Amino acid sequence: MRGGKQDLLLKIVRERIDRLVELAEENIKKYPERSKRYISLARKLSTRYNVRLPKRIKNRFCKKCNSLFVPGYNVRVKLNSKRRSVEYHCECGEIKRILFNKSVKKA
Ligand SMILES: [Zn+2]
Repeated sequence: MRGGKQDLLLKIVRERIDRLVELAEENIKKYPERSKRYISLARKLSTRYNVRLPKRIKNRFCKKCNSLFVPGYNVRVKLNSKRRSVEYHCECGEIKRILFNKSVKKA
């Protein structure tokens, strides 16, 4: 038997991840630490249940410190035309590179 309960579980997990990212977004400016915790929880859920984070989420936080990127606030965004990538310079020093052709659309 396939599907059924397992599908439902994954659906719930995805919804929880979405919700956690929403919460991270709402809290990033007022409570940055709380916001990071939400991202970290979302990542844990994704690992535990083997649910991939959608690109729109995956590309939006720092892997090192779990900050949700808010351009102009906690991250500097630079274009690197040589590498054909966008670079997100996080406050913590981490640089995340996203290739142009993979991330043209904004979520
Ligand atoms: Zn960081």
